[in-house]
Amino acid sequence: MSLPGFDYRAPVTIEEAVALRLELGADALIMAGGLAVVVLLRERLARPAVVVSLSDIPELQAVAVNGGLRIGATATHAALARSKTARSIAPLLCEACGHVGSPAIRNMGTLGGSVCHGDGASDPAPALLALDAEAIIAGPRGERRLPLVKFFLGALTTALNGDEILVALHVPRPAAGTQFRFIKYTATSAEAFSTVTVAVSITRDGAGVCSNARIGLGSVAPTPLRARAAEDLLRGNKLTREIIAAAAAAAAACTNPSSSAQGSAEYRRDMTEVWVRRLLAEMPA
Ligand SMILES: Cc1cc2nc3c(=O)[nH]c(=O)nc-3n(C[C@H](O)[C@H](O)[C@H](O)COP(=O)(O)OP(=O)(O)OC[C@H]3O[C@@H](n4cnc5c(N)ncnc54)[C@H](O)[C@@H]3O)c2cc1C
Repeated sequence: MSLPGFDYRAPVTIEEAVALRLELGADALIMAGGLAVVVLLRERLARPAVVVSLSDIPELQAVAVNGGLRIGATATHAALARSKTARSIAPLLCEACGHVGSPAIRNMGTLGGSVCHGDGASDPAPALLALDAEAIIAGPRGERRLPLVKFFLGALTTALNGDEILVALHVPRPAAGTQFRFIKYTATSAEAFSTVTVAVSITRDGAGVCSNARIGLGSVAPTPLRARAAEDLLRGNKLTREIIAAAAAAAAACTNPSSSAQGSAEYRRDMTEVWVRRLLAEMPA
């Protein structure tokens, strides 16, 4: 593999990384686990003068409970899949991270890298959307927080400005009794990108009426999606067979898939309906 020449910097604090980002501007390419970055370099899709690695910043690797869950941007998928701290608040996210690619990909790839890459086929992103996660972003003007649902703007395009880095993801503590379901459905190998990924979070009151619903979808649009129309149908209702069927159809209707080795656009849309229906139907009342 031949890569173009570049300088390499490895700041050890967030402040240093933000200062470097500001100083180098478009000459810098931020690197976390490097899985996507190496492809960008190898294919000459990016020609940075300097690669700025975030790997030596301990604060970015930390996973901590602080009311909700704060996940440092460079926590790896493997670390999150086995983290008891993460599981105590966000078992849905741990499950999603455990299904990313192969063990080697999970060991190298980071949650922040997956989110910042902005790939519609990310498996953790639907889980983060179903958990109502926020991005915590650092830049020269300080820190800002952005709901993840506003972070994904288009294919491989996010709301991160050129002088900012993602420092963490915040997952709020779910309401008591909230139920979660996740599926990464692949038509080929379990290590391949999905045909469709579905993450569901449902809260019901004592009478079984749905008080909150969030459905995240992956691999069925240029960005990870929230199936808002489906959520609206569930909220305020019991999860009857009819309501579940209507919500599953609404989820499929909000997709905009493309065809690939993982399935045709039609198949992906159909499987979205199938999996949203199945995940909702299997939740005990
Ligand atoms: C063979 C293979 C199989 C895969 N299979 C799957 C799969 O099944 N499911 C799945 O979900 N994903 C899969 N992936 C994608 C992989 O999970 C992501 O590419 C990976 O998580 C990206 O993380 P990274 O740390 O390597 O990011 P990097 O490659 O380091 O960075 C990705 C992008 O984000 C930017 N960036 C990274 N971190 C930050 C930050 N903190 N602040 C600002 N910008 C940042 C970089 O500049 C770059 O543009 C696969 C990838 C490969 C190569």
